[in-house]
Amino acid sequence: MTTTATHFLDKTDEQQAITEMVRQFVDEQVLPVAEKHDHEDSFPDEVVEQMNELGLFGVTIPEEYGGMGLDLTTYAMIVEELSRGWISVAGIVNTHFIGSYLLMKFGSDEQKDKYLPRMATGEIRAAFSMSEPELGSDVQAIKTAATKTADGDYEINGQKMWVTNGLRSALVFLLVKTDPEASPPFKGMTCFITEKEPGAHENTGDYAGLTVPPQLKKMGYKGVESTELVYDGYRCPAENILGGEEVGLNTGFIQMMDALEVGRVNVAARGVGIAQRAFELGIKYAQERKTFGKPIAQHQAIQFKLADMGTKLEAAHLRVLKATRLKDAGVRSEVEAGMAKLFASEVGKEVVEDAFRIHGGYGYSKEYEIERLYRDAPLLLIGEGTSEIQRMVIGRKLIEKHKI
Ligand SMILES: Cc1cc2nc3c(=O)[nH]c(=O)nc-3n(C[C@H](O)[C@H](O)[C@H](O)COP(=O)(O)OP(=O)(O)OC[C@H]3O[C@@H](n4cnc5c(N)ncnc54)[C@H](O)[C@@H]3O)c2cc1C
Repeated sequence: MTTTATHFLDKTDEQQAITEMVRQFVDEQVLPVAEKHDHEDSFPDEVVEQMNELGLFGVTIPEEYGGMGLDLTTYAMIVEELSRGWISVAGIVNTHFIGSYLLMKFGSDEQKDKYLPRMATGEIRAAFSMSEPELGSDVQAIKTAATKTADGDYEINGQKMWVTNGLRSALVFLLVKTDPEASPPFKGMTCFITEKEPGAHENTGDYAGLTVPPQLKKMGYKGVESTELVYDGYRCPAENILGGEEVGLNTGFIQMMDALEVGRVNVAARGVGIAQRAFELGIKYAQERKTFGKPIAQHQAIQFKLADMGTKLEAAHLRVLKATRLKDAGVRSEVEAGMAKLFASEVGKEVVEDAFRIHGGYGYSKEYEIERLYRDAPLLLIGEGTSEIQRMVIGRKLIEKHKI
């Protein structure tokens, strides 16, 4: 179901075919099992296996590396569809996508050859790690550090927090401090591609010194793991600095901020997807449930709510499209990505809440899907930068642009 027929008119034939394929996959394979995995907080192995088969882990990876070579706009449309089913399955793809973006944009040829083909098929998955127990928004305050050893490797020590795909990933794109004296601090930060054993809590052998504690218990966004990562004497070869040591040392902050721009569009697309599903549930229930002798959809207050939900949903989708199309055209789109993230994540939460209200008491029951959406939606206000941080970025850029 879409809010209006025009919802699809802005797609190319290829985009139309892919999003229809993903929608069918979501209807048949994701929605029927989402509640079960949500209630059990279990990883949806069978769904991820099918996502591998559909090539969804390599959507933006170039064809020469075995991916589909599609643009960010098409990727965002896919994320909208996946999130309509369950934002956790979109989450499994999202940090993997950020890792592949970092490699494609900043990786050395050797790094691309080594990792991208296996990432494209989903054989290995990636995580993206900046946050620490004491910081999320204030990235320059990172304490995890890498120090060069006598044999040329780097030794990494420190603790990371909230790592999506933290357990099952094989690669973690990790932002650490490499020059503690750098001023401002961001000039002393580096992104390492740290390898690990997928699924192992205690890494051994080449990856010794990396522990993955039990996954964090969350309000929603179940199934996909969020973990801490403890690096304690973990050795990483210098060649695993993103872009190589010569180019990549102390440039990690800039690389990660660039990746966050697409990461924000990612989250915005998730906001659209969850809002779409909430809208579908709300408009259906409103026509089924009767009060005072007629379907509640006949009450003007409910119609107004549905009108606002549909309008916000369309607007959020268009905001995402603007940001992705600019990025695909090679235009720096920090403001547009920030606006899309801010607007679509807030819309996700608001439309879900409206659909929850339309469900009355049943919305509070675990028997109804809207209950899960109500617990899932708030994550989008936090991940890839909170709404407050988006406003800071947007405000600063707008003042620069309109300087008198
Ligand atoms: C489920 C989940 C998955 C995540 N996955 C990842 C991941 O894969 N990788 C990763 O690196 N991180 C991940 N994160 C972390 C996420 O990016 C951070 O939680 C987020 O950036 C906010 O940081 P914080 O939690 O430390 O909040 P804080 O930075 O402590 O902020 C607390 C509050 O203060 C506000 N605030 C902070 N600074 C300012 C300011 N200057 N002005 C006004 N208000 C301000 C914030 O908006 C917020 O409301 C994940 C988080 C969650 C919950």
